Amino acid sequence: MDMKNRLQRILDEIEHARNEAGRTDPVHLMAVSKTHPYEAVEEAMRCGQTLFGENRVQEIQQKFPFDRVGSELHLIGHLQSNKVKKAVQLVDAIDSVDSLKLLRLIETEASKLGKRIDILFEVNTSAESAKSGFTDELSYFEAVEAAASMQWVRVCGLMTIGPLSDDEKRVRSAFASLRELGQRSADRYPDLSFATLSMGMSQDFPWAIKEGSTVVRVGTAIFGARDYR
Ligand SMILES: *Cc1c(COP(=O)(O)O)cnc(C)c1O
Repeated sequence: MDMKNRLQRILDEIEHARNEAGRTDPVHLMAVSKTHPYEAVEEAMRCGQTLFGENRVQEIQQKFPFDRVGSELHLIGHLQSNKVKKAVQLVDAIDSVDSLKLLRLIETEASKLGKRIDILFEVNTSAESAKSGFTDELSYFEAVEAAASMQWVRVCGLMTIGPLSDDEKRVRSAFASLRELGQRSADRYPDLSFATLSMGMSQDFPWAIKEGSTVVRVGTAIFGARDYR
């Protein structure tokens, strides 16, 4: 199957899950291009895909042209302090904010650059310790509270990576907990937006859509298997 067919099949599956869930609001597709060459990104763009996700700043720097046009690029991987400045320069949004310290650094660098930057808070909903993301609500709400008075950072919602499991109940309950946290956050902070719920990857995006996902992040099912050698 070529790129156009793979993308179309995923869009059809998104549509199917959305209809099954009785939803009328849009679900966006983010193409996760990590480890794949820029030619693959361009090919996806020619097929109409505009939203892309990458998880390493260095890879973005090496892969994407500086004057990117026609694409929206989000960082979705854990961000180290010493890469914040570059990240703020290079991407349109940081979807993996997992600490108050990181949030503050992003605000500082964004203000220096005079660039408003969209962010999502990453939450660890699976209790798998290898994953990044906020694990306790106290530190999460502390960060939300801080974001409420920031000038350059714009909160758009939440992101999570579901548990690596084919147990539908378990995976969906992790996604449901993100949705529920988003609702409570919106109630507590009516001036911030928690409209975006970024959840669901190649293996589990239909379940995520049934639990309210507004953006699914799909890599393998679009670009094929990754080669980390
Ligand atoms: C790699 C990655 C994805 C895409 O995973 P696939 O299983 O290839 O669809 C989604 N989200 C994050 C944060 C990733 O790092």
